[in-house]
Amino acid sequence: MSGDRVLRLDPFKAADQRRCLELSVPLSSFKRLQSVLLESEGEVSCKFVFSKGERNEIWIQFEYRARLTLRCERCLGKVAQLLEDTVRLRLVDSAVELARDDEESIEVGERGLYLPDVIEDELLLALPLIPKHGQYGQCDPESVRWLKTTDGSSTDEQAENPFAILRKLKY
Ligand SMILES: [Zn+2]
Repeated sequence: MSGDRVLRLDPFKAADQRRCLELSVPLSSFKRLQSVLLESEGEVSCKFVFSKGERNEIWIQFEYRARLTLRCERCLGKVAQLLEDTVRLRLVDSAVELARDDEESIEVGERGLYLPDVIEDELLLALPLIPKHGQYGQCDPESVRWLKTTDGSSTDEQAENPFAILRKLKY
């Protein structure tokens, strides 16, 4: 990871300088994201481009790419999810917050803009609501069967129940 100097900057100055910076941040450094990750290895690669618009407003173009390991909601197994996008964020209300089209905002603190916060916010927004394997066949068949039986939705439970044999022997 790059030093703190690069992770936190003054967005106004960066826009004046039309600054462009690329960085990689380890997934393990995102605390809020940890709750949905099955593995915290890996990193997010991103690029920030700061610029000023016609009315002197500040724009931040943010490009990211990350491969996350999430839990499949169908089989509870690991599912790899590639998240990548380019979003344009506008700094609004001089130094107070960043806004994007859907009105999500992030605070720019007194100490400047902390880039990992921007990255984590965007990753959280981009997460699938219900992560799962693309195709049913990619799910772990054992787990799906097991989950179905514990659901009570399986009809052949009786036949698979090993105690059914004992019951037969008894009589
Ligand atoms: Zn699955």
